[in-house]
Amino acid sequence: MTAPILRRLEDLRGMQKAWMRAGETVGVVPTMGALHAGHLSLVEAAKAASDRVIVTIFVNPRQFNNAEDLVNYPRTELDDAEKLAPFGVDAIYVPDPDQIYPEGYATNVSVAGFTDVMEGEHRPGHFDGVATVVAKLFLQTGADQAFFGQKDYQQLMVVRRMARDLDIPIEVTGCPTVREPSGLAMSSRNLRLSPDGLARAARLYPLLQSIAARLAGGEVFHTLIGPVRDQLAAAGFTDIEYLDLRCEKRLEQLETPIRPARLFVAAWMDGIRLIDNIEVPALTG
Ligand code: AMP
Repeated sequence: MTAPILRRLEDLRGMQKAWMRAGETVGVVPTMGALHAGHLSLVEAAKAASDRVIVTIFVNPRQFNNAEDLVNYPRTELDDAEKLAPFGVDAIYVPDPDQIYPEGYATNVSVAGFTDVMEGEHRPGHFDGVATVVAKLFLQTGADQAFFGQKDYQQLMVVRRMARDLDIPIEVTGCPTVREPSGLAMSSRNLRLSPDGLARAARLYPLLQSIAARLAGGEVFHTLIGPVRDQLAAAGFTDIEYLDLRCEKRLEQLETPIRPARLFVAAWMDGIRLIDNIEVPALTG
């Protein structure tokens, strides 16, 4: 059954009010479309947890710091609706741009602190765009629960902080990263990689896993980073923007996984910017 596609806030609100009156809980899965199995895993989690599920599709211009990336971002609405059909979601909200940013729109939501590093540092304005649109989608959908991917781990933290700080009554759940059989984290941007780029990009995950294992065995991060950067360059990554070991909670840099930690990377392949992160097991012994 294909879900209704709603483009106007008033239509969304009409549905959502009826669900609320019936005492039903609402889950939201915010996306920018070009849906893949990663997005669909969030939909599954939402279906399991909430009575009603809204998937939103909005390519948010404010979170793109690169005009070319925005223009080239894949838009596949019909395919997306088909992919969602088997899941029985209740609504697909594809807001017309003026439903998010009406004429005269003047408000920005900005989360301080851990937006200073990694994605925040390399994509100026990106997290303001994310926090602003997600705040609006939370308020527009009135959802009780929201589902985000750990693939964008820093984004998940920004969104959680924003919802808490603004007293938006929503529970934000982080779901595991879904990967291709090769280990490459699924991403809408992978569609723009050449077959050769795809194969080369797949070398990232095993490399991250090997660093994680060495860290868990007691090696110190700064001694590993040089050779790893060389290996990434040899695999064809043209620019390694960051490769960091950080604690999960506050995103502070670490030398060893003395606290729950993750490895984070952003690098370019074939002119496409890819990000990934994995959990690092705690120090053994
Ligand atoms: P996007 O459409 O790229 O903005 O992503 C929408 C949501 O899907 C975000 O919460 C992402 O973290 C999540 N997501 C994207 N790729 C994956 C993946 N490979 N596994 C799990 N979640 C993902």
